[in-house]
Amino acid sequence: MKSRRRAQEAGSMLLKYIQPSSVSRNNKNWFHSAVNTEPKVELHTGAAVVDNLRNSDGKGIAETVFNLYKNQETHMMNMSEIFTVIEKSGIRRSDPRLATFLSKLSILHEHLGEKNTTLSNLHVDETTFCQLTEDNLVLLNQIVRNDIIIPDWKSFTNQITEMFNRCKDNQEGEVASYIPQLSRYNPDLWGMSICTIDGQRFSLGDVNEKFTLQSCVKPFTYAICLSELGNEGVHKYIGQEPSGRNFNDLSLDTSNKPHNPMLNAGAMMSCALILKKIFPCLGLAEKYDFLLNYLKRIAGGEFIGFNNSVFLSERENAYRNFAMAYYMQENKCFPEGTDIHDCLDLYFQSCSLEVTSESLSVLGATLANGGICPITGENVLNASSVRDTLSLMYSCGMYNYSGQFAFKVGLPAKSGVSGCVLLVIPNLMAVALWSPPIDSIGNSERALQFCEELVEVYSFHRFENLNNLVSQKMDPRRQTHELKTLNTLTLLFSAVAGDVSSLHRHYLQGVDMTICDYDGRTALHLAAAEGRMHAVKFLLETCRVPPSPQDRWGHTPQEEAFRFGHDEVGRFFDNYLI
Ligand code: GLU
Repeated sequence: MKSRRRAQEAGSMLLKYIQPSSVSRNNKNWFHSAVNTEPKVELHTGAAVVDNLRNSDGKGIAETVFNLYKNQETHMMNMSEIFTVIEKSGIRRSDPRLATFLSKLSILHEHLGEKNTTLSNLHVDETTFCQLTEDNLVLLNQIVRNDIIIPDWKSFTNQITEMFNRCKDNQEGEVASYIPQLSRYNPDLWGMSICTIDGQRFSLGDVNEKFTLQSCVKPFTYAICLSELGNEGVHKYIGQEPSGRNFNDLSLDTSNKPHNPMLNAGAMMSCALILKKIFPCLGLAEKYDFLLNYLKRIAGGEFIGFNNSVFLSERENAYRNFAMAYYMQENKCFPEGTDIHDCLDLYFQSCSLEVTSESLSVLGATLANGGICPITGENVLNASSVRDTLSLMYSCGMYNYSGQFAFKVGLPAKSGVSGCVLLVIPNLMAVALWSPPIDSIGNSERALQFCEELVEVYSFHRFENLNNLVSQKMDPRRQTHELKTLNTLTLLFSAVAGDVSSLHRHYLQGVDMTICDYDGRTALHLAAAEGRMHAVKFLLETCRVPPSPQDRWGHTPQEEAFRFGHDEVGRFFDNYLI
């Protein structure tokens, strides 16, 4: 109640404070009032988590971040410091999880009327920084600590760029021509987008061109059915076996069910289940909206459109799909009361939904992330439905190449005749690939080459041996245990070199700043012995490490400073040794 009233009060004050002249900058609460903070829920984070974001000294994370990045003389922070860290991490400024921070910042920018500076170049004090970041602290904290699934984003994306460029030269394949709308695509188009489970994004090539999902929609209609109806409710009507036949083959399995949901017959059945079993009271138009909105949530609100001419053309040229639907009706496959024309219409509509490789990568990343959309934190699909979907993508997702693809690439994927391939690396990321020329089986030539090259370089194949003494392949994932050992080592080196920003990073990552080597020498000993005043100050003032630990010879950091002739540093310790 109280918080709602506060939000309402803040809202009613918004208009007043939009006029810069009416606001006193000295009023500490001006910013709060200026922004209508109807609290935006950061869905995968609770308030409790935010409350826990405190360091051992009890300081809030926002204050700590501010102190690390502020200018030590002016005690102000230039926002470019934070934007540099965000960009380096692979998280985009446009990420919905940073929306409140960004919108507060632009209101502040407008309000200050800073003519000569950009939004990302503003100087702010500690109170303002804390107010700007309070709603998006969990993600910001994760970014600043580099606690993200692929920590070295730059090296990873450099490798990906090389692979992408090599595939560009591949001139194999023909653009699908069964309907004129597809045959008009330029064969040179080639786009690739990655979205990780932490929402890191990377895109190359024709990533904003729209294309229809075609068969790539099948895992999603199936996952929606599973999420809404449960495994039994769905598999009463659809099998789970690869068929070994063409995607549009006129055949059913031995129980008279479509072989699996990745083939046309199975996907038609998913559409029938959506129509007849999920909110059966909804009309056809509402059912289309239901499907579209579901997909938009899986895509974190990114682009999903509809191509009406593809839809009309699909329907006009669908003799085989009609034949399949009648065959299924004859065999009493459908739920009672199914109108096969409605069912086919929804199937053609689903194939005619448009995406870009950007939005397709988020759709896939939600599958990689167990049903939680990485960029919104919304739990859209339940985890077991996603697991089942990935299993069938793995065994049946690449048409009649599925067995070979599972053998060579070892990852769940789905392809569509528009030239798209969605590759999912569970618990890591999704890669959306799109290039219209396809091989005789129906898979994009460039996309196939990319998938094969990816698992040549990285240990992503499900059955790859991850023992790095055996495997020559790289693994870009954060490796907690090794990272900890490495952190201890790099912490001590940073102290020797007086590299304060590296010390900052270690501190934010939760590295124990009092850790010592075999001789009992801590970062403070090393910084003092080398006369690194800023590092010593940082360790004592910010990290609050004990000022006089003894090494194996009984030396304290202060004694080390004097011993090596750094008297100023030695005297600085007096402030801490009373
Ligand atoms: N709309 C196509 C069909 O039903 C889908 C083709 C595909 O991508 O596999 O024939």
